[in-house]
Amino acid sequence: STAVTTVFVTGGAGFIGSAVVRELLRRDNIRVINLDKLTYAGNVDSLREVGGSPHHHFVQADITDSEHLNQLFEEFQPDIVMHLAAESHVDRSIDGPSEFIQTNIIGTYHLLEAARSYWNNLKQQQPERSFRFHHISTDEVYGDLEGPEDLFTETTPYAPSSPYSASKASSDHLVRAWGRTYGLPVVITNCSNNYGPYHFPEKLIPLMILNALAGKPLPVYGDGKQVRDWLYVEDHARALIKVAMEGVNGETYNIGGHNEKQNIEVVQTLCSLLEELAPAKPNGITHYTDLITYVQDRPGHDLRYAIDASKIERELGWTPQETFESGLRKTVQWYLENEDWWRRVQDGSYQGERLGAAEVV
Ligand code: NAD
Repeated sequence: STAVTTVFVTGGAGFIGSAVVRELLRRDNIRVINLDKLTYAGNVDSLREVGGSPHHHFVQADITDSEHLNQLFEEFQPDIVMHLAAESHVDRSIDGPSEFIQTNIIGTYHLLEAARSYWNNLKQQQPERSFRFHHISTDEVYGDLEGPEDLFTETTPYAPSSPYSASKASSDHLVRAWGRTYGLPVVITNCSNNYGPYHFPEKLIPLMILNALAGKPLPVYGDGKQVRDWLYVEDHARALIKVAMEGVNGETYNIGGHNEKQNIEVVQTLCSLLEELAPAKPNGITHYTDLITYVQDRPGHDLRYAIDASKIERELGWTPQETFESGLRKTVQWYLENEDWWRRVQDGSYQGERLGAAEVV
């Protein structure tokens, strides 16, 4: 007799979205409608653990297609929208910002409008129902930190540096405005850098693991002293579900792992984990650290991000379960055990049978 909660997850074939989908489907009485365009970053192989679940419906949808969105809201009547679909790679945003503007800003606008019109009807037709729109965002909207002791809080002014972070800042502002102006029930979360299983190999941590295993150079930007605050993706997924279900409308929650590390420390830790877990090295290398090479820094590269996550800890009782060391160890182990997953990304075949692993509505 318990009611089923229907959750729209946009970007659910991506790195964090697929972790959210897997985590939601571990719980009872949840139905997931997974809306994803399947860009290069979308990978239905990342949904293989939930592919057979009757509670998971995959829909190939573009969030800039408002007609399709209206139809899907009408058909599935969600209780919660968890909006993760985005272009997410900073370097790609520098080379070509157009898709970032389209998906992150215009797409969020269309999703907000579809949600608003659905919610207006729902309020009239089924006043007992509730609804919530959760926007998943990044700490990069705050720009970078000056002093070594500073932390981003929920009230830190926005000062984005890259086309990526500017597009996410824009979408945060739109979401907040739809809450304030139209009374749409919204929550926003801003999270630090994620890492973990199913991470696309262009990102720092998987790139370093796979390059090391192949005996290729480990490219470190500038002097490697940039500081990032790292969070294990499954800890992020649990935080997101807590906010989506228990957060207070109109509020913002920062999410982070208290794991500030210089990029060079991250690479060195990975190298020592690989020494232990993959001691047979390629190409006659003596130490994985011999592969480290410094490359020219990215333009506008933020020096330091660090997040104060005390609000979500205090108000919603969330804390991360992994330390940086335990999470990184799990991640290295996962890449060692899931060569089939990353080979299919590297050779492009993950885009071939892309619809095979999930139900298509
Ligand atoms: P990702 O690039 O791995 O996944 C994005 C997903 O969105 C892909 O599956 C892609 O196919 C889909 N998508 C892209 N454009 C779309 C469109 N027009 N319509 C429908 N689907 C579309 O990204 P991620 O790392 O999983 O990040 C997810 C969200 O979390 C993003 O909004 C990102 O800004 C935010 N975030 C990421 C991090 C991080 O460290 N990765 C940290 C904080 C916040």
